Amino acid sequence: MSEITVTLPDGSTLSAEAGETVEDIAYRIGEGLGRDTKAGVVDGELVSKEEPLDADCRIEIVTDSSEEYIEVLRHSASHVFAQALQRLYPDAKLTIGPSTDEGFYYDVTNVDLDEDDLADIEDEMADIVESDYEIRRVDVPRDDAVDFYEDNEFKREILETEAAGEDPVSFYEQDDWRDLCQGPHVDSTGEIGGFKLLSVSAAYWRGDEENESLTRVYGTAFPTESELEDFLEMREEAKERDHRKIGREMDLFSVPEHSPGCPHYHPNGMAIRRELEDYIREKNDELGFDEVRTPELNKAELWKPTGHYETFTENGEMFAWEQDDTEYGLKPMNCANHAHVYQSKTHSYRDLPVRFSEFGNVYRNEQSGELSGLLRVRGLTQDDGHAFVRPDQIQGEILDILRAIEDIYGHFNLEVLYKLETRGEGAMGSEEIWKQATDALIDALREEDLDYDVEEGEAAFYGPKIGINARDALGREWTIGTVQVDFNIPRNLDLTYIGEDNEEHHPVMIHRALLGSFERFMGVIIEHFKGNFPLWLAPEQIRVLPVTDDNIPYAREVASELGDFRVEVEDRSWTVGRKIQQAHDDNVPYMLVVGGNEEEAGTVSVRDRQEREEQGVDLADFRDHLELEVEQKRTGLTFLV
Ligand SMILES: [Zn+2]
Ligand SMILES: [Zn+2]
Repeated sequence: MSEITVTLPDGSTLSAEAGETVEDIAYRIGEGLGRDTKAGVVDGELVSKEEPLDADCRIEIVTDSSEEYIEVLRHSASHVFAQALQRLYPDAKLTIGPSTDEGFYYDVTNVDLDEDDLADIEDEMADIVESDYEIRRVDVPRDDAVDFYEDNEFKREILETEAAGEDPVSFYEQDDWRDLCQGPHVDSTGEIGGFKLLSVSAAYWRGDEENESLTRVYGTAFPTESELEDFLEMREEAKERDHRKIGREMDLFSVPEHSPGCPHYHPNGMAIRRELEDYIREKNDELGFDEVRTPELNKAELWKPTGHYETFTENGEMFAWEQDDTEYGLKPMNCANHAHVYQSKTHSYRDLPVRFSEFGNVYRNEQSGELSGLLRVRGLTQDDGHAFVRPDQIQGEILDILRAIEDIYGHFNLEVLYKLETRGEGAMGSEEIWKQATDALIDALREEDLDYDVEEGEAAFYGPKIGINARDALGREWTIGTVQVDFNIPRNLDLTYIGEDNEEHHPVMIHRALLGSFERFMGVIIEHFKGNFPLWLAPEQIRVLPVTDDNIPYAREVASELGDFRVEVEDRSWTVGRKIQQAHDDNVPYMLVVGGNEEEAGTVSVRDRQEREEQGVDLADFRDHLELEVEQKRTGLTFLV
């Protein structure tokens, strides 16, 4: 047996014999850890504790207090679901049942299920959990496995692909039931403290629309019942905040069937988007970005030297077609066009940084099943920008962008989280170039004293980046903006500037988006604010409510005094109570109630969305205050504080 070196998370090493398992290593570290071992993470991959180690590797032991434990538990819950399903529907065929960020799913077929059937399956699952069956890994000779799945072409395909050449193959068994599986799993079904089946939908085998349609059952599981309850409560709240629901209620946008994945902004939604655009234009001016406009339609060869063509066509994400013997496409990114604008004249080192911004419309062919409102789209507008800088300007440029982002997100009450994404597979350019670029990003983060997570291997193919995530009111994280250092595209497109030495040099290209895309950012803030936008963003900022029809002329006078705001007069002949209710339902920040008393005194009664009230307010005072509230982009309503 050969010796291997195992590196532990603290950097220390152990020597082991090839063939020793994750669990063996855990026991060597300590008897207690050995007993508590549920699984392992070997070179970044979650594996079962029985996994033999054949070569030098990095290893983490997974116990029930590890972050990865929930994945192991949830995948185990998918087995409990599958066993319960087959108890009730013996002919049901199983395919795959992985864990997800929110729980698990299992894709099944040969069974007709709808949401009404889930309660019975849950009862059966409860029985399996209560029985606390031991979950055992068993090695099954390959031929026996093939026989076992005589009637299940999906599992046979898995045996021929993922498990190709393995003999024996691994199964997991509980009670008298078994499933082909790599693991890992928890030790017994009783470890699942709380579970729930959530929904039934359709899915294609291997996610490919050409393949057979399967039934996907989603569920979730937690170590305890109370964690499950918290999750379900949060899920209800998320449903209430669903941007598609609020988008309909507030008449913000629609995604008609004839334009899949391409949202239409209605006047109310466009009012919000214009505020966002104005704000970002202002920031771009401050940061020294010059606005340009480049076309959506280009010859496909535009994206070949930048690597975008290969990347986007490989994933089927590019809209491209033949026209007059030439391949054309809709741009998936703006980088190449901006590089061409840079290249259109010569630059001296003194001109740098040269910066271009664009609200760039890009198109990506997302699968139709994945499309959802503003958050998963095919057509989107990025608030894109590219800075072409000298190497000595990288850090300063990144710092300015990070500071702008901090400032911007504060006006939305969004917490910013930074993810440093490093070199992954298929990266363009040398390791040395990548290190230089990654160091520049780290230096900027440190300089600003910002905490960040490192996501190894997650960067785009052309350079490392800082992914900007926002944490919303429900604690959910959304990937929004980005800052990316790129030494590769300038080389591949031979972008140059004349240096102090009179020689040609390649500039460094910094790609950045402050909000990401307007679509995604709007989707996020609709849910984050639950439609209760700050005054500066609200589609309708003020509604004037005449107490009776006689007060309508005065109401119109008041509205015209507030002409700089988005103001409406409620002129339906309703009771004032109903008018107030409607304004609340429409999430209008400020209501001005005007009746006989107000008309006589030339004042208004102010009421806000938070049901605070003040009578006899001078209209000029109100207007001055609101102008300030908008100008400072305050997140709260402050007139009646
Ligand atoms: Zn499994
Ligand atoms: Zn770019």
